[in-house]
Order: sequence, then C-alpha cells, then structure tokens
Amino acid sequence: YIQAKSLFFSKNGEPEDVLKLHTHSISPTLPPSSILVRALAAPINPADINTIQGTYGSKPTFTSLLGTPEPSIVPGNEGVFEVLSAADQSSTLQPGDWVIPAVSQIGTWRTHAVFGEKELLKIDKTGLTAIQAATVSVNPCSAYRILRNYGPSSGLKTGIPARPLELGSGEWFIQNGANSGVGRAAIQLAKLWGLRSINVIRERASDEETTALRKELQDLGADVVVTETEFLSREWRDQLASITRGGREQIGLGLNCVGGKSATAIARSLGQGATMVSYGGMSKQPVLLPVGLLIFKDIRFVGFWLSKWNEKDVVGRQHMINDILSMTKNGQLVDVPTKEISWEWETTEDTLRNAVQHGLDGFQKGKGLLVF
Ligand code: NDP
Repeated sequence: YIQAKSLFFSKNGEPEDVLKLHTHSISPTLPPSSILVRALAAPINPADINTIQGTYGSKPTFTSLLGTPEPSIVPGNEGVFEVLSAADQSSTLQPGDWVIPAVSQIGTWRTHAVFGEKELLKIDKTGLTAIQAATVSVNPCSAYRILRNYGPSSGLKTGIPARPLELGSGEWFIQNGANSGVGRAAIQLAKLWGLRSINVIRERASDEETTALRKELQDLGADVVVTETEFLSREWRDQLASITRGGREQIGLGLNCVGGKSATAIARSLGQGATMVSYGGMSKQPVLLPVGLLIFKDIRFVGFWLSKWNEKDVVGRQHMINDILSMTKNGQLVDVPTKEISWEWETTEDTLRNAVQHGLDGFQKGKGLLVF
C-alpha cells in the first residue's frame, strides 16, 4: 500500500477555514485502465482558490472517493505527475513518464493519485523541469489562444467578422494584469509571433521596484510598459497617440484580466472595430463600458474561458501544449516566477492551508507552487 496525503474541502469557504489534509492509503491493485501517479509539482492558480470559495464558473461535485468523513473535492486544476504504475501492461503510459491533466478539475493538490488513463496527457519530459511542466497548461495556453483567435474586424458596422491579429505584422494589443502568469506569457508569445504589446502594471511599494518590474517585462519582450496610474491619468491619451503614431497604428485587441476602471481604460484605448477579451476579474469590480465605444467604434466585448476551449478542441489543445513545451525547451519562453512551497510528508495542514490562502494576495514575487 502507498501512503498518500490529499488536500480537500467538504464545503465552500475561505481556504484557511475549509481546506483540510487527509491521509489515506492506495492499494497497488489498480482498477482497469487506471494509472497510479505521484505528484511532482502543482501551482496555486486564482481559479483554484475561487473554486474553493465557490465563486468559480464550474462547480465540481463533492464525492466520497477520497474516503473523507463527508463528501469532498480535491482542489488543484494544474500540475505534473510521474507515472508509478499502470493497470494494463499495454498502456501507453509507463513508469517514469510525466503526465499532466487532460481534463478540468482533476484535483492536483495531493501526493499520489489513481486516475483514469484518459484523464491524463503524456508529455515528453526531456529537457523540462517539473515547474515548467506543471505550469504549461493554464497561463501560457490562455495567452496562446487569445492572441491567436481574437482581433479587430475590418470595418465599421459592415458585418465583417473579426479576424485574429496578423502574426508578424507588428499589430498592437494592450493588456492589464501584465505581470500575471497569463500577461507574462502574452508578452513573450507576442514577441515571438511579431506582435507588439502595451502592458499595464500596478505600481510597487517603491519607485525602484516599479522600475525593476518594468525592466523585467521589457526583457521578456514588452514593447511598452505603463503603470496603472499613468494609464488612468489624463495624459494617457497623448501618450497613446504617440505610441500609435497619432492613431495610424490602431490597437486591435485588448486583454482584460482586472475589470473596474482599468478595463474601461483598456476599452477606451482600442481602435475601430477592436475586440476586448475579458478573461479575469482580479479587482472584483464590474466592467463599465461607455456606450459610445459600442455604437461609434463598434468595439466587441467578449469573454474567454480556457476550459471551454479545451473541451471543444482536444486535439488542438495537445498541439498547443506541445508547441508551448518546445518553445520552453528552446529557451524562448522564460519560467514564470514561483514561490515554492515544499510539501514533505511532515508538512502540516496549517502550512499548506496558509500557502493557499495567500495565493490571491497582490504584489507577490511569484505564483505559489506546491513542490513534492
Ligand atoms: P497570477 O496568479 O499569475 O497573477 C495574479 C495577477 O493579478 C497579478 O498580476 C496581480 O497583479 C493581479 N492582481 C491581483 N489582485 C489585483 C487587484 N486587486 N487589482 C488588479 N490586479 C490584481 O494570475 P494568473 O495569470 O494565473 O490569472 C490571472 C487572472 O486570469 C485570474 O483572474 C485568473 O482566474 C484568470 N484566468 C482566466 C482564465 C480563463 O480561461 N478565463 C485562464 C487563466 C487565468 P500584481 O502583480 O500587481 O499583484
């Protein structure tokens, strides 16, 4: 028998109140078509915390599978595991292989698990670190999908559908939350694909730190980095005009990670027929849109949800992941900054719970990452 530990919750609430650690054993005799894995690394993403709080768009079902006193859910939507054994000798998964979730809400915050073979996607681990494999499938994939699928329409009220930004053309997009995992991936992919980015960040506690962050994003490939204060000020209009050569180079795409005033300012910065894609709501403020942008500028406002794209296009997702992993191996994509939380056998419930609770804090040095 394998001794395992899992984080779980049996009711929604703040992680520090509802998240618990369960110790259990796993039988080495596996059900047909299943795979025994051990965890290597799993990030703490905002969506994981929202799922625990019960505010996320999809609500997984509480089950008795884990053997907890009350039906439970194991949180964690992303991570990488090593295969320990497969129920079927003929399985495509062999001991030592690395796998990531093929489906949503698999529950990655646990030391070991038995998953159905179809719930896992094998990746080629050669040249990859566990951190890189554990963080490939949410943030970079979101940036990839949005940049490759959304952009401006070519005319005002003509009924012409929007097209994606043209790769290699130097077309502009603008994003807030530029320091997020998605934002950083968007900066780098844009650079690789010949697009140009305007990036909005929040000021840090000191000017030195703000300058350092600005430089960090520029080093990743950001063309323009502005602080939220600059972006929300009256002067932004003129600054934008000089960036876009008096409006000759219009901004065809806006990425909204934040909501509130920042989202309105993104919308106001867009050119004729542009698309604003909202994918996150970090400020928890609603998006307010001046009607004129809808009427006179014909701007399209759409939402993006990676989980839905993944369900709709399973094969496309695999190609995308392989593409991103090969860019990672080539050094074209830099690792996301992480704050590692080492999960040893002795690690306490409190330590883990605390790490998760702080996962949504702002101004962090890196994304929380459970490392086993
Ligand atoms: P990270 O954990 O990497 O970073 C969080 C970001 O949010 C930081 O840049 C932080 O800015 C910013 N932030 C935190 N609090 C606030 C606030 N009050 N106001 C403004 N900004 C704030 O995030 P991810 O990249 O993993 O996710 C970012 C967002 O995208 C989340 O809302 C997430 O749910 C969403 N998302 C959505 C997907 C989809 O399919 N729709 C897929 C992936 C992510 P700072 O650095 O200044 O602290």
